[in-house]
Amino acid sequence: MCVFCGIVAGEVPKHEVYSGERVLAFLDINPATRGHCLVVPKRHVERLGELSREEAAELLEAAGAIAEACRSQLGAKGVNFWINQGRVAGQVVPHLHLHVVPRYAEEEVKVEVRAERAAQQELEETAERLRKGLR
Ligand code: 5GP
Ligand code: ZN
Repeated sequence: MCVFCGIVAGEVPKHEVYSGERVLAFLDINPATRGHCLVVPKRHVERLGELSREEAAELLEAAGAIAEACRSQLGAKGVNFWINQGRVAGQVVPHLHLHVVPRYAEEEVKVEVRAERAAQQELEETAERLRKGLR
């Protein structure tokens, strides 16, 4: 059983923040900032695309509500929402989780992205391939 399934089942201790029909949210044990939460579907899935519409809606609603609470209760000035999907993207726990990271100052968290301007043709070809995958 994965550690987040253990948390959902009540077999691994947690600091619960939200529990609904399909979604649970609890504090990350290694918080990037105060109030760093993980929002997870109660059903074990690895990828965002595996969620049902109902699960996806509750996940996003819970994340939005938690962000509001971070603002009103903890004084957060902003929030980062992020998902690491797949080992190559840094996913360590193979149970989908949305990080909700309240931000109090710019320097606390550094997300580095190396990006360069792409050629027009490459953008066109890539968009066409993705549209194909979505048909
Ligand atoms: P990932 O790198 O997979 O996106 O993030 C996994 C997150 O889960 C990490 O931020 C880590 O601190 C957190 N985490 C790992 N094990 C536990 C645990 O047993 N309890 C809680 N609350 N968080 C955990
Ligand atoms: Zn799981």
